[in-house]
Amino acid sequence: MNSRQYIALEDTYGAHNYHPLDVVLTRGEGVWVYDVDGKRYLDCLSAYSALNQGHVHPVILEAFQAQASRLTLTSRAFRNDQLPLLYKELVELTGYEMSLLMNSGAEAVETAIKLARKWAYTVKKTPRHQAEIITAAGNFHGRTISIISTSTEPFYRDDFGPFTPGFASVPYGDANAIEAAINENTCAILVEPIQGEGGVIIPPDGYLRQIRAICDQHHILFMADEIQTGLGRTGKMFACQHEEVRPDVTIIGKAMSGGFYPVSAVLADKSLLGLFRPGEHGSTFGGNPLAAAVARAALRVLVEEGMIENAVTQGDYFMEQLAEIPSPHVREVRGKGLLIGVELKPEAGGARRFCEAMLQEGILAKETHENVIRFAPPLIIDRQTIDWALDRIRDVLTRR
Ligand SMILES: *Cc1c(COP(=O)(O)O)cnc(C)c1O
Repeated sequence: MNSRQYIALEDTYGAHNYHPLDVVLTRGEGVWVYDVDGKRYLDCLSAYSALNQGHVHPVILEAFQAQASRLTLTSRAFRNDQLPLLYKELVELTGYEMSLLMNSGAEAVETAIKLARKWAYTVKKTPRHQAEIITAAGNFHGRTISIISTSTEPFYRDDFGPFTPGFASVPYGDANAIEAAINENTCAILVEPIQGEGGVIIPPDGYLRQIRAICDQHHILFMADEIQTGLGRTGKMFACQHEEVRPDVTIIGKAMSGGFYPVSAVLADKSLLGLFRPGEHGSTFGGNPLAAAVARAALRVLVEEGMIENAVTQGDYFMEQLAEIPSPHVREVRGKGLLIGVELKPEAGGARRFCEAMLQEGILAKETHENVIRFAPPLIIDRQTIDWALDRIRDVLTRR
């Protein structure tokens, strides 16, 4: 079958809840992917940062295959010999005393929301079912009903109410607005250190530190959604570390498995995660031995192969070069590490057409929020490959 035939099948029989670029991929290796017609592309999306380690990383593959042939699922009714090792390695890597394993990012965010409420009722003594969590406008935390209840994006929520109560919304990047929104029932603030889906929005310097101070002062939990920004993407293990801030709860997912398998986690100290009692929360697949083995390998290569340092070096270079492209369409280039957004002027006709043009040139990038092109290649990318990409990006941004 050729690309056209695959696309026709998909469009006929699959729900149209995505609007993918018309490229049908069949193989990936490192920063490169190949379509069914044999054409090669540079992956500049990395599955929304789930592929920080690159496609089919050989060390993760080996762990995946070995574990898949030994034991894949026990459920948490029984213990397995991989999960305890992952727990221990997460403590050493992140500095949090405990973790709770889930599968998708949205499930981990839901878990954090439940944890904050549990803490409110058992520790802070908030009246039952009155707890409130502050979230930021423009956020993306996933797609469940409760999570979209925090969304300010009409498209994500308009046809899906009624919504879950207990959330307040404030403008992103404004710590004073957070302080003003706090009331006696506020138990937590949930934010992304950089808004990825929101259009690579970087808050003002000091924002995260201010949130930390506000939380300490008002006895509120600071919960950071690092599902996209964490695990090296911005040049630190966690983006909050750019401000030397330690949230009470950090949520990770995506690159936790290097793209092999859905693995997510809520990280916190024992005073919080110790609040869950047996049976109160869970997941059949969460913390399964295959997921744990894959996550262990994915986290190990991230550190051992210097990917986080590489995100700094290559990210700085990539961003600097992008900013020098004399394009009439570009309004701003911004980012941290290898999470880069190129915001186009409103009159540029939207980011989609540039992404389609880059596709023709062998570069896969996706528009986010209509006018922003996100460049987020795997963290293993080298300078030579960035130069290759820049030649093509320059062409697309200046000639069209
Ligand atoms: C992708 C993402 C999620 C949701 O993760 P899923 O695995 O798609 O459920 C949540 N928060 C952020 C910041 C994300 O980028």
